[in-house]
Amino acid sequence: MTTSIKYNNVTKIKPIDWATIDTLIFHLPTAFSDQQIELHALSEQIIELRETYCTGTEHWRDTNAEGQTPKLYIIHHINTNCPLHGRPEPGKRIRTYIGSKREKIAAAQAAIERGQQYETAMAELKRKHQDIERGAYNLHQIYWALRLDLPIKSNRQEENHDSA
Ligand SMILES: [Zn+2]
Repeated sequence: MTTSIKYNNVTKIKPIDWATIDTLIFHLPTAFSDQQIELHALSEQIIELRETYCTGTEHWRDTNAEGQTPKLYIIHHINTNCPLHGRPEPGKRIRTYIGSKREKIAAAQAAIERGQQYETAMAELKRKHQDIERGAYNLHQIYWALRLDLPIKSNRQEENHDSA
């Protein structure tokens, strides 16, 4: 911009990098809507997994016993609920017998696998949520830095108003 060139020559103040500012502003709406789409996809994945995952781990019995077929149990941590296998007594753990039938074993293993997917998706969702919150906070900071009036009432102001 020509105005900045003029005052930079007069004042010897470092020129402002308008090209970078323009580029950052240009990409911002897409960057935020992409984040929103990703957050939405993660929530969908979590909803899909929510009722059908297992929080336990595999535990095999009779793997070396002569004349016995190996049997699968699912062991859960103490005081840990499982959407599939229920809620333990206080201080206890849920132990679920699966047995040796191939289909039952495959179903149990798939549920444990979904449990790991659920954990990963939840961690990713929390991280992304924090990123977006931090991004939103920084957007507010831009307005404060430039001494602009906020075009909207922020949530924080609303909360303060409600509690007053
Ligand atoms: Zn379970």
